Amino acid sequence: MNLLNIAEICPATHALGPGKRFVIWVQGCCFRCRDCISPDWIPQEQATLVDPRQLADYILSVPGTEGLTVSGGEPMLQASALSTLFTYIRQHSDLSIICFSGFTLEQLQAQSDSAISQVLTLIDVLIDGLYVPELNDNKGWRGSSNQIVHFLTSRHIREASLFTERKRDVEIHLSDESALMVGVPPLNFSQIFQAL
Ligand code: SF4
Repeated sequence: MNLLNIAEICPATHALGPGKRFVIWVQGCCFRCRDCISPDWIPQEQATLVDPRQLADYILSVPGTEGLTVSGGEPMLQASALSTLFTYIRQHSDLSIICFSGFTLEQLQAQSDSAISQVLTLIDVLIDGLYVPELNDNKGWRGSSNQIVHFLTSRHIREASLFTERKRDVEIHLSDESALMVGVPPLNFSQIFQAL
């Protein structure tokens, strides 16, 4: 079965895109950006394997959800499973879909990978490119200013400035023994958070 290997989920946040969103972080990345915000999710190892259709049903069961954001890790390493997930979401809802990738859009298009091509037809916004600490401008829902926000549909164009100019904030989601930081943190916040 075409399973999705996920590191973490957050069923409801306002910190990673417009509106109330479900967030998935996939496990495994092929890049090693310096000062990566999520180093625990770089190893390409098995974390939690889920059936994308079952995950989609769960996402759709969360009341008030307006969108889905996928980050990581590198989502495009799991393009086949993501394609299944996004197709199901599209068939059963009107949720917006935002996806991050360390690959640029041009690199993804050059791969001629049918699953990646399919994913690109299903998402509303792609935020692409590697994280470059020197270009972290402390604004918006992208980590550094080299990352391009591609509006692949018209859905979020009216909110375009939020993606690149918005004052940053994060949410801290607490569970029994852990704390999950959700969002693109203000400068130096993630180091302080990890130290805590
Ligand atoms: S692409 Fe993202 S997850 Fe991968 S190393 Fe860079 S910042 Fe970290």
